Amino acid sequence: MQRSPSESLQPSLIELSRSALEQNFSFLQSRAKNGVRISSVIKGNAYGHGISSFIPLAELCGIDHFSVFSADEAEGVLKFRSNPDTDVMIMGMIRDEELSWAIENGIEVYLFEMERLDRAFEEAGKLGKKARVHLQIETGMHRTGFEKPEWETVFQKINDNPESFDLKGICTHYAGAESVANYFRIQKQNETFREAVEMAKSMFDQMPPVHASSSAAFLTMPKMHYDMVRIGIAQYGFWPSRETYMHHAKANDFEEEQDPLRRVMTWKSEVMSTKWVKAGDFIGYGNVYMAGRDMRIATVPIGYTHGFGRNLTNSGYVLIRGVRANVSGLVNMNMITVDITDIPGVEKGDEVVLIGHQGDDEITVASFGEMTNNLNYEILTRLPASIPRVVVD
Ligand SMILES: *Cc1c(COP(=O)(O)O)cnc(C)c1O
Repeated sequence: MQRSPSESLQPSLIELSRSALEQNFSFLQSRAKNGVRISSVIKGNAYGHGISSFIPLAELCGIDHFSVFSADEAEGVLKFRSNPDTDVMIMGMIRDEELSWAIENGIEVYLFEMERLDRAFEEAGKLGKKARVHLQIETGMHRTGFEKPEWETVFQKINDNPESFDLKGICTHYAGAESVANYFRIQKQNETFREAVEMAKSMFDQMPPVHASSSAAFLTMPKMHYDMVRIGIAQYGFWPSRETYMHHAKANDFEEEQDPLRRVMTWKSEVMSTKWVKAGDFIGYGNVYMAGRDMRIATVPIGYTHGFGRNLTNSGYVLIRGVRANVSGLVNMNMITVDITDIPGVEKGDEVVLIGHQGDDEITVASFGEMTNNLNYEILTRLPASIPRVVVD
């Protein structure tokens, strides 16, 4: 594997597969009702995939709308998008002073409280530029959103000030569509949302796009597609939950079904050193792992500082020469030791796969999850931004 000098300064590397991403978007498009726009959700450094590489790659796949959490992430999109017309939407945190920056730069922002609405109105007036806004409706998530008694006032204010507001959307967010346990709560949220949408229809001459679904609702509840969907986890090749996958598999004839989503990310490192250890000796710190036989171990320069959790101590594994090598001993800050006794010929510099395929075997992100009870979301976003990301076919 050839690496650029800056990449070779890092102990590991994340590859992003262009063909996997294309496949995911073409599957997602095929599931979207006619005309539904996909917004690519790239908060959390594109779920650990790295925004600088991911944004242009998603644009190549036809994406022209990105959703982020905060103003700094929106700035990242402005920096890394290749098409200047690609839209950016901030769903969460914007400080007052960032609001004027966002309006100036044509960034779409969620409004979810009167104070922010008034502030946007003011800033738009000062700049002589329309604020591009999405009105977030409180439907039962109880985090952010305009409450029912406010809806009419809010809609009226937008209507009365066309020189200050460019209404880009009416939206809400469901409280956990990936789990059947929340089914009724979400149905109720959708009913409330429909009320708001009906009121908006009666008040606006031109309805803006309506959007509510993230990956889970998109994949399991087509009636909630509306005009736009905000897709995070699925584009990266992961089902939001096992239930969501089962729903899909069942609807598409379980036996025949193959997973249409492909993991975009592969995480690789290399063998740093190898060593023989005698039966009865302890490996690494303390007495966490005692060699039960004469063992050959390899050190791999990956640790909890890189997002390889300490809870994978004695239980995680990596792939070397296509074979699983168990983590033996504590996961250190920068290093793990793995058992290569039964993998002949391992040498310093051999490729080590932490997430992904090697030979006929694969380590999934979910397998980290099973070992540690973490969700894919958390494991992915914990991967540090400092690991180089490179695009491969
Ligand atoms: C994170 C997020 C999404 C995307 O969720 P996924 O489950 O990753 O598809 C959509 N909408 C909002 C408001 C979000 O915060």
